[in-house]
Amino acid sequence: MSAIRFNRRVVRYFLIAFFVVLFLYVLMTGGGGNSKSSTSAIKKKPWMTTGKLGNFEPKEIIEREGPGEGGHAHHLKPNQENDAAASLSAYGMNMACSDEISLDRTIPDLRMDECKYWNYPEDLPRASVVLVFHNEGWSTLMRTVHSVINRTPPQFLEEVLLVDDFSDKENLKGKLETYIKKFNGKVRLIRNPERQGLIRTRVRGAEEARGEVVIFLDAHCEVGTNWIPPLLAPIYYNRTTMTVPVIDGIDHDHFEYRPVYQAGQHFRGIFEWGMLYKENELPDKEVQRRSFNSMPYDSPTHAGGLFAINRNYFLQIGAYDPGLLVWGGENFELSFKIWQCGGSIQWVPCSRVGHVYRSFMPYTFGKLAEKKKGPLITINYKRVIEVWFDDKFKEYFYTREPLARYLDMGDISEQLALKDRLQCKSFQWFMDNVAYDMREKFPELPPNVHWGEMINKATKECIDTMGHAAPTVMGMSPCHGWGNNQLVRLNAKGQLGVGERCIDADRQGIKLVFCPLGSVEGPWHYDEGDKTLMHKETRKCVALHPQSNNLSLMPCDPINTYQQWVFKEIPSP
Ligand code: UDP
Ligand code: MN
Repeated sequence: MSAIRFNRRVVRYFLIAFFVVLFLYVLMTGGGGNSKSSTSAIKKKPWMTTGKLGNFEPKEIIEREGPGEGGHAHHLKPNQENDAAASLSAYGMNMACSDEISLDRTIPDLRMDECKYWNYPEDLPRASVVLVFHNEGWSTLMRTVHSVINRTPPQFLEEVLLVDDFSDKENLKGKLETYIKKFNGKVRLIRNPERQGLIRTRVRGAEEARGEVVIFLDAHCEVGTNWIPPLLAPIYYNRTTMTVPVIDGIDHDHFEYRPVYQAGQHFRGIFEWGMLYKENELPDKEVQRRSFNSMPYDSPTHAGGLFAINRNYFLQIGAYDPGLLVWGGENFELSFKIWQCGGSIQWVPCSRVGHVYRSFMPYTFGKLAEKKKGPLITINYKRVIEVWFDDKFKEYFYTREPLARYLDMGDISEQLALKDRLQCKSFQWFMDNVAYDMREKFPELPPNVHWGEMINKATKECIDTMGHAAPTVMGMSPCHGWGNNQLVRLNAKGQLGVGERCIDADRQGIKLVFCPLGSVEGPWHYDEGDKTLMHKETRKCVALHPQSNNLSLMPCDPINTYQQWVFKEIPSP
C-alpha cells in the first residue's frame, strides 16, 4: 500500500515539475506562437534577454480637448484664409493652423495592440534626439520638441539637440535660446555658421551629440506613445543595427494625424533603378522569420528622415559621404553602406512617429548648389551608385537617367577607400540577400536603344509630357534641349518612357502612363529605316495630326513625314 502511495506522490511531483518547466519554457519563448497568439503569452515574453525588464507604457491615457487634440484636423475660420495661404507658401505647411494647436497636443495611439505588452531592458542606451532645421516654423519645431519630452521616459533621453542650419527667420533667433531654458538643460541648441544642407548638418549633430544613440527626426514631427524603447532595444542587442519607426502622415494643411498603414500591415523600403524611393509589402520570408507580427523586420533601405543608430557606429562607418550635398540620396548611401559592410536595418512596427509632408519644398539649395552644374539630387545619386553598385547595376541607373552619365560627381576615392577598409560586400550580395524582393518589382533593365529628344520629321517639334503627371496625353512642343519633359528613352524590349513613366497608346491618343509593375517590356517597334514607331498589337503607327498637333495611332504610312520620328541625344550639360 505505502509503496503505491509513494509512487503516486512521485508521479504527482513529477507532473507538477513537468508543468512548471513547461510553463517557464512558454514564458521564456513567448509560446513560440505567431501573431495570433494570446496577448498573455506576449506579455510575459522578454525581449531576448534575461536582464531586468520594464514595459515603460504610460501609466494613464491622457485625454485633452482643444484644437487638433487627439490628432484631429483643425480647421481655421474663413477670415483666416489669407494667413493660412501666406504661411503655406512660406513654409509648405499651414503655420496659421499649427499655431492654434497646443504644443502638447495628444495624438492617437495607432500601434498594434501587441506593442503594449512588450518588455524591454531597463538599461537601454540613452539617446540624443537630433533635430536639424532650416527656416522651420516655430510651432511645428517646438511641437516636435514637446512631443519628445512628453512621450520619452526621461532615463532614455540624454538630450534633444537642435541644430540650426543657418536659418534667417527672425523668430528662430534669440527667442529660441530663451524658450529652451525651461527644459533645464535637456534641450540644447547649436547653430551652423553657414548653410550646410541637411546631410552635413545631421553629421554635425551626431558629432556634437552626447547620447550613446542618436535619433534623427525632421523638425516637424510628433512622436507616438512609447516610441523610444522599441527603437533602442535592437541597437542594445546589436550596435550595428539601425532602426526606423513607422512614419505616419500629418496633414500640412489641417494637421490631422493619419496612419500610413493600418496597424499590423507592414511595408519596407526599396527603390527603382532611377533611385526613386518606394515601399513594398513585407515579403513572406520576412513575415515568417518573426514569431510576432509586432517584431522588427529587415528592410533594404529607408525614407531618410527618421531613424536611430549607435552614435559611434555611425561615425565609424563614415557617417554620410561628405560629398553629398544638401538633400537627397543620403538615405541610400547609408543603407547600402550599412548592409554591405556588415550591419543591418530594421523597421520597428511598435514605434510610430508622425511627419508633416510639406506641399512643396520651401527652401532653395543656396550657395552649395550654385557650385554644381546640373541637378544636385541626380549628382548625389550618381555618387552613391558609383560607390556602392557593381558595374552591371550602374548601367540600370544610367539607362533610367541617361544624362547622369555626364554629370560631374566630384572625387569618390575616399568613399571607395572606406568601402575597401570596411571590407564591404558586393551590391549583388545585397540584391540577393537583402533586397531580393526588388527582382519582381524592378527587374534588371534592358539597355536603351535610343534616348534623348523624340523629334517629328515634319514639324521638327519634340514629344513632351507638357509638365503633366501620368496618366496624361503626350503633347508636342518646340525642342528646348534641356531634357526634362522631353527626355525620352526607348529600350531594347520596346518600352518607351519618360523618367519613371511609360508611353502607351489607346483610343484617346498617345499617353504617359504608369509602367506595368515588374515589366520592362513595351508595346513599341521602332523601324530604324523608315523611322516609324509601330504599336505592335494594333500594327498602327504614331502619327502627328497636322492641324490639331495631336498624337494618335494611324495606319502606317512610312513615307508620311508626320509619322517619322528621330531620336536626338541631348548634349551633356
Ligand atoms: N533641413 C536643413 N537644411 C537644409 C534643408 C533641410 O537643416 O538645407 C532640415 C529641415 O528643416 C528638416 C530636415 O532637414 O528638419 C529634412 O528636410 P525636409 O523636411 O525639407 O525634407 P523632406 O521631409 O521633404 O524629405
Ligand atoms: Mn520633412
